[in-house]
Amino acid sequence: MIKIKNLHKHFGSLHVLKGIDLKVNNSEVVVLIGSSGSGKSTLLRCINFLEHKDPGGMIEIMGKDINPKKDDLNLIRQNVGMVFQHFNLFPHKSVLENIIEAPIFVKKISRKEATANALSLLAKVGLQDKANCYPSQLSGGQKQRVAIARALAMNPAIMLFDEPTSALDPELVNEVLQVMKELAREGMTMVVVTHEMGFAREVADRVIYMDDGIIVEEGAPHELFERPNQDRTINFLAKVI
Ligand code: ADP
Ligand code: MG
Repeated sequence: MIKIKNLHKHFGSLHVLKGIDLKVNNSEVVVLIGSSGSGKSTLLRCINFLEHKDPGGMIEIMGKDINPKKDDLNLIRQNVGMVFQHFNLFPHKSVLENIIEAPIFVKKISRKEATANALSLLAKVGLQDKANCYPSQLSGGQKQRVAIARALAMNPAIMLFDEPTSALDPELVNEVLQVMKELAREGMTMVVVTHEMGFAREVADRVIYMDDGIIVEEGAPHELFERPNQDRTINFLAKVI
């Protein structure tokens, strides 16, 4: 579903991604861990073409080598949903309007069909009674579940999550993780940046530890957590587990 070769990214003179190679298979759940500033968000943003990689290297999505200058990035983003730490809902739109906006205006689906689909997604994330609320009337956990429903409304093949629970009060974290677990169980291909090691252990097929713009080590959760090989991984895990 995703194949990345030798991905580099600079911001000016700051070399943020230093040659990332990554493959993500269909229905695989990959969890990215690493210290703040290690390049996790930048990697996700490159996969979604919110940032453009440096020249050279390759990002293939669903078998297609993407050239951001030539290819229709909106079309590609329809296949790759993204959920952000700070929800990024439209504050002046209701929950329902937030969800139907892109299906109607980007995918050109009828309002009626988009609404029916949105209501079923809201039921899936446990918020069917909030369709007409505004984001300001919701808790953080509810906002994030709306953001997930909004991403799913485009019927993506891949979902990227960038610290989806980091901005939440602790008691609201689980309701969001539950929705993500359900998605994983249904076979969604997911790349998740998170500090929730319990989620990583339980749900990830593979955990990747990044530091300073490179993939230091990766493996099945039990391998990486129980038997890390690299000093950097051992030091990081000692701090977070
Ligand atoms: P992480 O998500 O692992 O915390 P980021 O990918 O957000 O790391 O950031 C990696 C590095 O890139 C940091 O040093 C950050 O300050 C820098 N960075 C991220 N986005 C930008 C940007 N738009 N412009 C300049 N520097 C950036
Ligand atoms: Mg980040």
